[in-house]
Amino acid sequence: MDCIFCKILSGEIPSKKVYEDETVCAFYDVDPQAPVHVLIIPKEHIPSAAAITPENSAVVAHIFEVIAKLSKELGLTEGFRVVNNCGDIAGQTVKHLHFHLMGGREFTWPAG
Ligand code: AMP
Repeated sequence: MDCIFCKILSGEIPSKKVYEDETVCAFYDVDPQAPVHVLIIPKEHIPSAAAITPENSAVVAHIFEVIAKLSKELGLTEGFRVVNNCGDIAGQTVKHLHFHLMGGREFTWPAG
């Protein structure tokens, strides 16, 4: 499958991993938009948030457990932002479900 994140999982494309277990992986974004910018992905190839179903949604809960753990380990005690872009109109460029964990600066709302 021609998926950048599947290639990161297989080791075909290098990444700077910060966490990995049986079902998820987290690594630094190659083009950081904040002092801390990590991507958390399921190992299963789920194309986007629009493809989450009762059968595959457990990994999303687990991803948020990992986000809470990583936020502490990475020093984001003042808060952080979690972003999921779903579909081209929302700016999703990689069609493998992922959550951006960003912190270390202030964020405005609403996001553009
Ligand atoms: P999105 O635009 O929401 O689909 O996010 C995709 C993210 O993947 C972007 O922030 C990219 O900078 C990031 N990205 C693309 N290729 C890589 C890579 N090889 N390693 C780490 N991050 C990547």
